[in-house]
Amino acid sequence: MMQRLADVIKMLKAMKKIRNNPAAMHYFSQLKNLGQAMEKLYLVDSCRACSNAVVPVQRTARELEQVASTLDFGTELKAKLPGRPLFHHVFKISVSGCPNSCSQPQIKDFGLQGRARVVESPGACTWCAACVDACPDGAVDLSKEGPVLDEEKCLLCGRCARACPSEALVVKERGYTVLLGGKLGRHPRLARRFLTLAGEAECCQALDAVMEFYLRHGDGEQRLGSLLEEHWRDFQELWAEVSK
Ligand code: SF4
Ligand code: SF4
Ligand code: SF4
Repeated sequence: MMQRLADVIKMLKAMKKIRNNPAAMHYFSQLKNLGQAMEKLYLVDSCRACSNAVVPVQRTARELEQVASTLDFGTELKAKLPGRPLFHHVFKISVSGCPNSCSQPQIKDFGLQGRARVVESPGACTWCAACVDACPDGAVDLSKEGPVLDEEKCLLCGRCARACPSEALVVKERGYTVLLGGKLGRHPRLARRFLTLAGEAECCQALDAVMEFYLRHGDGEQRLGSLLEEHWRDFQELWAEVSK
């Protein structure tokens, strides 16, 4: 009896740990979308609603889904494949609300990371140091004039501005870093950065261009990352054309 009680307590503690871990929660929420993904041959996922998000993650994910669904991607990709589609053929799209990247956009074909550019507002600082404590990257320095952000260290997460009680640090701009061509598998690679602080409409345009490019130039087996490595200049030319 005591052993069973101890097991139950252990299980409850483990469940609590998972609930408090955004990356683990994201993994479990993704599982339920896999059936549909094998039909459509693309998968749009995102991190959960979270107070760290600096962009409207769920809305952007819905917009991306809309873009992908109008392309008839699954039918065209299936026509290129010699046999039954497998999970590695699924084109993976992911949106994260902040640089913590809980939905792992760095290893997806198309990934977005929310970013917020913070600026100093002269004369408003009360030197409470909340911003210094809030920054996980040691990017805030307090000078006699007020806060100074180190651009080299800053990941544009917006935490310091959220922590500031006197608007001496404010978010000037929000958007997404667009990442392309990440993957795992036998030859894993991190995605390359394509756009910085892109708006939602620009992200949708980029997804449309990337998926069209993939269908036009890929054989379905080759992952986007390798395809872009071979044809990066062609893709940039296409992007220059469509984003005019
Ligand atoms: S990526 Fe950021 S916003 Fe999304 S769940 Fe993780 S911490 Fe929260
Ligand atoms: S935006 Fe984030 S990383 Fe940059 S200084 Fe503020 S808390 Fe630090
Ligand atoms: S949190 Fe705001 S008021 Fe406090 S030290 Fe930082 S910038 Fe100044």
